[in-house]
Amino acid sequence: MRALVTGGAGFIGSHLCEFLLDQGWEVVCMDNFVTGSPENVAPLQARPGFRLVRHNVTEYLRVDGPLDWVLHLASPASPRDYLELPIQTLKVGALGTHNALGLAKAKDARCLLASTSEVYGDPLIHPQREDYWGNVNPVGPRGVYDEAKRFAEAITMAYHRFHGVDTRIARIFNCFGPRMRIDDGRAIPAFISQALAGRPLTVFGDGSQTRSFQYISDLIDGLWRLVRAPVTDPVNLGNPQEMTLLELAKRILRLTGARSEIVFRPLPTDDPKVRQPDIGRARALLAWEPRVDVDEGLRLTIDWFRQRLRG
Ligand code: NAD
Repeated sequence: MRALVTGGAGFIGSHLCEFLLDQGWEVVCMDNFVTGSPENVAPLQARPGFRLVRHNVTEYLRVDGPLDWVLHLASPASPRDYLELPIQTLKVGALGTHNALGLAKAKDARCLLASTSEVYGDPLIHPQREDYWGNVNPVGPRGVYDEAKRFAEAITMAYHRFHGVDTRIARIFNCFGPRMRIDDGRAIPAFISQALAGRPLTVFGDGSQTRSFQYISDLIDGLWRLVRAPVTDPVNLGNPQEMTLLELAKRILRLTGARSEIVFRPLPTDDPKVRQPDIGRARALLAWEPRVDVDEGLRLTIDWFRQRLRG
């Protein structure tokens, strides 16, 4: 099997490339390094069947040779990144997804879209099921990401229905683990780096907003099951273990042994108040559920950040 992984040098993409190589797949990893880094895939460079190509997927997309899969992960993903790169985010979700689907069609390959729980916006239904259409502000600052992904889902379904391309849509809920950028602004790397440096942990709002965090190996397992299952409707992949941001900060203090204080900062515009996946569909159709307990995942991530910061 031979796959193109767009955004392959990012956090999730690099783990996916590594996993696919372990399964004996050939992998073309395509990335423009706007938020990812070649460093994430440096250990893969020596492996047979791996190729790294620097390319912006919003430009014309060409890959030599056959392809069985296009796994489209390219997109800025953290609020800090997509607020800094609003036009690129819209372009990669729209033009980039169009190009990924066009390439899949031309190669007679299948196409998986890495979508997001952000398609649910600030949800009025809790937990979020795939048949909930969401509550997104299209003109707010976060709209650049949420609407790009909603468009990406729509064009993926159009290619499926109109062109018969075999597609998958993974609605990924917050994921964490090694190779996240320490400065990407997401809560887990921010809290860990603050705790390890003995600085105050900055919690947005009063910290009562909730999130549900899954460890990277669980997500990769879910994506792999989705690749092998004939499921063209969107599937939530996330860990239903929901917690408040304040609770997350306290966990990280406990697990790092840091004595930092917790300070509060203004809540960003349109920040979702709650987030928890209903994973009934993934359980039923993929026999998938997360296995890594959040504390265990946090320990592994803290160890990785510790080593990085020492290095
Ligand atoms: P990331 O920023 O680490 O990885 C994204 C990668 O895409 C980066 O390497 C970046 O350089 C690349 N990229 C961006 N625009 C590109 C373009 N125009 N051409 C080529 N490459 C481009 O983020 P991540 O957390 O690994 O997210 C990967 C995917 O998963 C994204 O599509 C994101 O929306 C989705 N997702 C992630 C999460 C999460 O919790 N991490 C949650 C939901 C969805």
